[in-house]
Amino acid sequence: MFLEPHFKSQRSGWLEVICGSMFSGKTEELIRRLRRAKIANQKVQIFKPAVDTRYDEEKIVSHNENKISSIPVASSKVLVELSEGFEVVGIDEAQFFDLGLPVVCEELAAMGIRVIIAGLDMDYTGKPFGPMPHLLSIAEYITKVHAICQHCGNLATHSYRKINDSEKVLLGEKESYEPRCRTCYNMGNILDLRTDKQKKLDQNDNLLF
Ligand SMILES: [Zn+2]
Repeated sequence: MFLEPHFKSQRSGWLEVICGSMFSGKTEELIRRLRRAKIANQKVQIFKPAVDTRYDEEKIVSHNENKISSIPVASSKVLVELSEGFEVVGIDEAQFFDLGLPVVCEELAAMGIRVIIAGLDMDYTGKPFGPMPHLLSIAEYITKVHAICQHCGNLATHSYRKINDSEKVLLGEKESYEPRCRTCYNMGNILDLRTDKQKKLDQNDNLLF
């Protein structure tokens, strides 16, 4: 578990990145850290990209319905102005921000702000996502969280897209994506077929009892 290196008495800020696949608990971990900063009486501001309106316009919400208020922004440019006077800044779904985000985050850290960034490290094709690889390079602290592979139960690092759509940004739910380990991800839709077959076998089993 990540424990804060220190809450106060440091003259400069720093960057923390929480990354992983879908359903790995990134937002949950971001909310946990921001809540702890609030308990320490720090001034906390939270942003998310305006593109992500899956659950709630002004809140960031984890998959298990944990919520915290946030400001939707269209561009990373406005973050410096909106972060003035705050000690901790949280940024969720960072992969959807523009490529200017890393420079903005460094500016925030130079202002003495602790910046906590959560985002998908890879898109559904397994490639680095938006500004995330740059952010991972410049951060002081990195936490990679893992989901559980729905097929074999090992740690999942990949977000497998279950529906046939080549749009890079497909905001999704459990119908659209599932977490998979590398091996099961590489097997692609062979596993989808096996799942259907398995379902039929399960149904037959149920008939026997
Ligand atoms: Zn697997």
